[in-house]
Amino acid sequence: MNCEETVRIYDGLSIPLGTLRFLKQADCQLAFLAMLTISGIKPASRWEKALDATLIDCLRRLGLHVSQVRRTVANGAQVTETLFSKSHAYVEVYVSRWDGMPLDKAPETVQLEGFLFGYPPCCVEEYITNPYTPNDIDPAQQARLFHWACKGCRITPLLLPVYGRLELILESL
Ligand SMILES: [Zn+2]
Repeated sequence: MNCEETVRIYDGLSIPLGTLRFLKQADCQLAFLAMLTISGIKPASRWEKALDATLIDCLRRLGLHVSQVRRTVANGAQVTETLFSKSHAYVEVYVSRWDGMPLDKAPETVQLEGFLFGYPPCCVEEYITNPYTPNDIDPAQQARLFHWACKGCRITPLLLPVYGRLELILESL
């Protein structure tokens, strides 16, 4: 029997408390991104740098599949990204498409990233044609999001309470 104390995210979804606390102390934003991914509101997430073995192990103990991806930038330098998801398949799609590839912002890249990272399709399409169009989202709430909400978005306002709830759980640790 596993006696480690857990924190309840939803009925039937509890994660190890000590591990989440450790992750929060290491990087609060990373812990929040992990919680959004564990809850499933984001199918997969990208942390735009490498993580050490301890933090990768933390993410795995929280129930996430983790993979590091090497990308190149315009000057030829290499950067490492860390991908994680509850689903092995989402990580596999990202790794097979982009491992070893240059960073790019082509429309089809933005569309696939939107699909993997759980961004509303309306926001993805507007971002491609008119990035950062002023929207109706409270700036403090916009700052918590990982996508730019489209003007008049009808999906993002429904996501915000979930973000708020997970944030409260994280703050309470
Ligand atoms: Zn939208």
